[in-house]
Amino acid sequence: MSVRLLPVRFPPLPDELLSSWFVRLAHANGEKSHSLSFKMFDGGLNFVQGGDQNLDRGHDADVLRILALATRTAKERVAASTLGAYSGYLWDEISARGVRRWVMPVLSRSSGRTGYGLQACAECLRSDEMPYFRRSWRLAFHIACPFHGCLLMDHCFACEAPLVIHRGDVGIFTPEPESSARWCSYCRADLADAMISSHKLDADLLEFQILLLSTLRRGWINVGGRVINSVLFFEGLRMLWAFLDAPRWSASFRRGMQRRGFSFIEGQEKRYGGADVRRTEGRHKLLAASGWLLDDWPNRFVEVASEARVSSNHVLHFSLHGQGSTPFWLWKPIHDFLDRSMYVPSDEEITNAFLYLVRLGGRVRQRDVCCLLNMRTNHSFRVAAVMKSCHLL
Ligand SMILES: [Zn+2]
Ligand SMILES: [Zn+2]
Repeated sequence: MSVRLLPVRFPPLPDELLSSWFVRLAHANGEKSHSLSFKMFDGGLNFVQGGDQNLDRGHDADVLRILALATRTAKERVAASTLGAYSGYLWDEISARGVRRWVMPVLSRSSGRTGYGLQACAECLRSDEMPYFRRSWRLAFHIACPFHGCLLMDHCFACEAPLVIHRGDVGIFTPEPESSARWCSYCRADLADAMISSHKLDADLLEFQILLLSTLRRGWINVGGRVINSVLFFEGLRMLWAFLDAPRWSASFRRGMQRRGFSFIEGQEKRYGGADVRRTEGRHKLLAASGWLLDDWPNRFVEVASEARVSSNHVLHFSLHGQGSTPFWLWKPIHDFLDRSMYVPSDEEITNAFLYLVRLGGRVRQRDVCCLLNMRTNHSFRVAAVMKSCHLL
């Protein structure tokens, strides 16, 4: 099938998100984004759905090819505007579902409504000659603009609706400049007026976030004197965030952090998804806590974790593919300093501990024996085996 050249065409702007570029192309050609998508592609494009089928994921090589031909843009440049282009930097390429990690969902899995998955810098929108949405504004650890230092907004300040790219031309017969990224697609407020641009992020924290963004471009980071591949770094960071964001697992650690001036947002209701579905304030706190820990890695982490008597499996619980796949930089301090479950008491010690508890009276559980032996685990195969043999005596 031959591809028709678009009469008005231009390449994506620096770090522009694919859907933002497509909507601008449609408007420049006097079309609504949906009608142009139906003209160019069988069945149109999917701007709305989350997950694998979303346009910005860049899963469909045909769509990218047609866009490249229709705009006379290099295929590589079109591909670079997709979230899929973070493969090999933010996730492992082979992880088919990995694209969801760190990317905030545009569709809420719990309510089925539009999620707060897109952010914007009011200052950038104000100073852009042609306002557009950046690809990196979809990332959960991106909370402030690296250029302006102000917090990003994840909703319209006037009507509180989420920011949506493709919806700007709904109800407008002829696309007008007002349908650009700068205006709320629900109430038409000028997003560049948002007061959030006066909220500056703390300088150290902004520096940490800029370090994360440059790690994503470079493919490596130096943590505690060790050079780490960015995929492994972000996987470990994700585990840290998940741990810090789960009070059930990290309550004592969080108390230790709170004594050092860090606070966390308590989860009220059941959430679907990890820290990626947190609103700005929650992600802000996670970024601050993880930045402080990494600033003197692993010393601060080990200090707080030891004081809080955090066991290795509290953190390793958040490993996606089993503990064996925990990135080494995170696993090593846990193993070296926290993992007292590695201590294996002798059969005699276990027997003595068990009989001592029996003498105290009541039912003796495995966890009581482990606790008495100061093991950092509640379940031990050896303790269970010795207890069983004692019962048989
Ligand atoms: Zn900005
Ligand atoms: Zn609005």
